[in-house]
Amino acid sequence: MNTDKIILSVATTGSWASKAQHPGLPTAPEEIAQAAVESWREGAAIVHVHARDEAGKMTCDLARFRRIKELIRAQGCDLLINFSTSGGAGRVDEGERFNSLAAGPELASLDAGSMNFNQRVFLNPPDFIEELARRMLAAHVKPEIEVFDSGMVGNALTLVEKNLIQPPLWWQFVLGVRGGAPATARDLVHLVESVPAGSLWSVCAVGRHQLPMNVLAIAIGGHARTGLEDNLYYRRGELAQSNAQLVARLARIARECGREPATPQEARAMLGLGDSPMA
Ligand code: ZN
Repeated sequence: MNTDKIILSVATTGSWASKAQHPGLPTAPEEIAQAAVESWREGAAIVHVHARDEAGKMTCDLARFRRIKELIRAQGCDLLINFSTSGGAGRVDEGERFNSLAAGPELASLDAGSMNFNQRVFLNPPDFIEELARRMLAAHVKPEIEVFDSGMVGNALTLVEKNLIQPPLWWQFVLGVRGGAPATARDLVHLVESVPAGSLWSVCAVGRHQLPMNVLAIAIGGHARTGLEDNLYYRRGELAQSNAQLVARLARIARECGREPATPQEARAMLGLGDSPMA
């Protein structure tokens, strides 16, 4: 059995859900920071952040990303901060998607290919992802390589061959999105076997697939992402109380399986990142 420490990520908000669907969805910077800190106390090492505007709509506004980071750090919280560059899957111009890098996250998402995303087209053409990787490298931001199907692994490896992404590679397999790979054990194992030796990988899955795919990752030596971005429910018919509640359950299960959640500092070492920003 794998007993390595597990890196737990919390994706607090995303760019899709609304307070109408879940009144506890954090959208204001203060709410997102609070959800991050509470999740950290329950065992999360990474927070994956999307910003929302005053009306709760997704935004790439740099000031909002900066504010969220400041509020997290102001609470003495050393979580690894991962800013989204997804732009809400086709809802903003490519250029705006670079904005969050200027806020100095340690990690940022790099969506490694284009796809149909539910009813939208999520465009991540080769020149865009190459430019994104270049900017991340220049800004010392480590890419979290988001992979929605196995073809995207090859797209990312093209960037690795150009030395635009440095090892250790950090993959996030996003399963169960309509248009991407389904959330099955077979698909996850196929993706795990598709990435180079020495990679670290995590899995998240949408809706009811979230927990089973997280548990599978615990069992087979991966890392796991939970949170309201991917799933609003604790169990069928029952909304989750909070992001922290989802993290607490995952940490509990991981510990029962012999996998202690990594602290942010331990996760930094595993990902080849530098010292804590709090030091
Ligand atoms: Zn996201």
